[in-house]
Amino acid sequence: MSMKKYFNIDIPKRHSQCSHAQEELIPGNDMYSAIFEEGQALSREDYCSQCWTQLQKEAKVHEAVTFWKSVVPEKKEVKEIYLDRDDKALALLNQFIQSENVDEMHQAMILALYLSRRRKLYRRKEETNDEGENVIIYEVAQAQEFVSVKKVDPQTIDIPKIQKMIAANLKD
Ligand SMILES: [Zn+2]
Repeated sequence: MSMKKYFNIDIPKRHSQCSHAQEELIPGNDMYSAIFEEGQALSREDYCSQCWTQLQKEAKVHEAVTFWKSVVPEKKEVKEIYLDRDDKALALLNQFIQSENVDEMHQAMILALYLSRRRKLYRRKEETNDEGENVIIYEVAQAQEFVSVKKVDPQTIDIPKIQKMIAANLKD
């Protein structure tokens, strides 16, 4: 499993190639996306419908935490969007870590995974806080501070929905 295939919250930045046969995914065609859990991280794979059908016979796709069908989007330029996206993601995380709202807690969890992948956060430890909640402590890179993110089982997260909410929040 290559590093670049780890979970990424950025919807436009889905794989442009089929994860199985490596052929280019054609805009307008059906595609299948699957999320896999690997230790503490989540990985994402995207497949053309032909490969997906073929993979149904193999064990791996049945281990997916979740999967969904969508249509390959038209190509978008995402590089410039990336410039301040990480800063916005961190600001959003700080906004959501205190929240009791389930969707916001889920967004915080996904943002923390994303920012870890971007090396903006470093996962340090898990602990139980004074309220008896399980939290993950992250060190904020380039800042002398830590953030505490409530731990949520990824399997309970509606990832496509949460991704869309995050994408909408990052656009503002
Ligand atoms: Zn394929």
